[in-house]
Amino acid sequence: MENKKTKSYSKLALARRIIQAAAFVLFPGLFISTFSALKSIYTAIIGGTFSMAANAGDLVLTISMLLITVLTGRFFCGFLCSFGALGDAIWWLGKKLKIRRPQISEKMDRMLKYVKFIVLGGIVLLVWTLGVSLLSGTANPWTVFGMYATYKGWADLSALLSVGALLLLLIGIGSLYIERFFCRYLCPLGAVFTIVSRIRLFKIRKPTPYCGNCRACTKHCSMGIPLYGMDVVKDGECIDCMQCVEICPKDNVKTNPKPAIAAAAAVVAMSGMYFVGNLADSAASAQSAVAAVQLSSSSTTSAGQYVDGVYTGSAAGYHGTTTVQVTVSGGLITDITVLSSGDDAQFLTRAENGVISDILSTQSVAVDTVSGATYSSNGIIGAVTDALSSALTGTTSTQTVSSSETTTASGSTTTATSDTSTASTTQTTTSTAATTSSDGTITLADGTYTGTGTGFRGETSVTVTVEDGTITSIVVNSYSDDERYFTRAESTVISEILTNQTPDVDAVSGATYSSNGIMEAVANALNLEYTSTVTTNGGQQNGHGHH
Ligand code: SF4
Ligand code: SF4
Ligand code: SF4
Repeated sequence: MENKKTKSYSKLALARRIIQAAAFVLFPGLFISTFSALKSIYTAIIGGTFSMAANAGDLVLTISMLLITVLTGRFFCGFLCSFGALGDAIWWLGKKLKIRRPQISEKMDRMLKYVKFIVLGGIVLLVWTLGVSLLSGTANPWTVFGMYATYKGWADLSALLSVGALLLLLIGIGSLYIERFFCRYLCPLGAVFTIVSRIRLFKIRKPTPYCGNCRACTKHCSMGIPLYGMDVVKDGECIDCMQCVEICPKDNVKTNPKPAIAAAAAVVAMSGMYFVGNLADSAASAQSAVAAVQLSSSSTTSAGQYVDGVYTGSAAGYHGTTTVQVTVSGGLITDITVLSSGDDAQFLTRAENGVISDILSTQSVAVDTVSGATYSSNGIIGAVTDALSSALTGTTSTQTVSSSETTTASGSTTTATSDTSTASTTQTTTSTAATTSSDGTITLADGTYTGTGTGFRGETSVTVTVEDGTITSIVVNSYSDDERYFTRAESTVISEILTNQTPDVDAVSGATYSSNGIMEAVANALNLEYTSTVTTNGGQQNGHGHH
């Protein structure tokens, strides 16, 4: 007879729910960051660009998460992962709604659990190694889910009409019927943890001789592990949710150290390492930013670095060119006036009110765009950047004009081509990457080119391969932006550039600067003109077609 006795909600279960809720709010990016850190290390190694300094944050996060998992098991999944917490919440909701749940046979459950290894293998091989734009950006459910943390307003809601949102919905439906549906069958990070935690030192023991016919723990195991036949849980699927400990009517499920102590140690260690990883990232970013400020005014600037004067600059807004006048006094930006713009007054005013005051108060052009007026914001930011490129201390008005820039009618320039210091970047491209014929058609010469652009926190470097006149591959060599923003931008922007054969594609909402950094770097590599504002998709083959 199955023992149906259950305990009241224990302190441990309550603590777990509180930690899950806190992690959902405090570490929304932990799942994405951890997976992205793995990816960054992997791609840096296979791309030959790995360095301890540049990858410090990723290394700290990855190694510590894996080490802690070896020591304690998957407390990450049981306590900290917001995607797992979402699964638990939906499962709880399904219970409250009294949804009839199917019985999944052990055999079927075991087979389905292999699917996540196929997902992981597919991502590593196709996406990370070959750069196939499968499940990239908002086509990826966990990116769409992670947007709750970076949500910036109505503009981000467009992500709800994406493939990723549809997959997220399907995962949500699956989670109503099968506990931890995504974790059991689909999660690629879970697949990594499953492998690593097989050698965990922290073990759950439940000597079967004391169990009799009871199967309560098996029935309540959130990962569907057939516990009834086990004296010690060695299964890598165990996520340390401790539901088996909670449910056992005979107090027969034991751990050493006690669950609460192990959970507290693991959670504190993982949270701490997350902060240390972020600190390492910030330190690396700060270094890049110092270098980048010499290259572009898109980096955070320090007060007093500009030469006093009145400067004019232009960049593309939503409809045509936006031109601004920037006044520098005492080395500080003291006034910004929009002289002309083709944008609708409604959007322009919103952008002006938000962006200009932000630039003045931060003395930096690395400011957020105004939600719902992204293009107009970018027009102003780009134009101020253009104006300030002439005002940077120590720069001259001489410009290193790329071959395509000579075809620019408006005179609008961008950070990619704005000042002499561009020449000191690691660019290895030759000026023959793109040639413009008299009718404006741009032809790309076969070869491999490296270029740089400016993201949110500093430089982004890419290598672009052109074969048969077509851009066939774009590999990110390095970047300084926060992982979660960059990852959101990376896969979508790269696949869009490959599809449209132009660096002028839509920026990823909520990751505009990282997107622009990639586009600018690709344009820089190919010697194509790039404006920091983006156009709609559909640029002609081999042409940037954007002014
Ligand atoms: S299996 Fe994946 S989604 Fe589930 S808790 Fe672990 S990392 Fe998060
Ligand atoms: S064995 Fe216990 S701790 Fe592990 S997943 Fe199942 S219920 Fe949770
Ligand atoms: S460990 Fe506890 S809950 Fe699990 S079968 Fe034995 S007595 Fe039942």
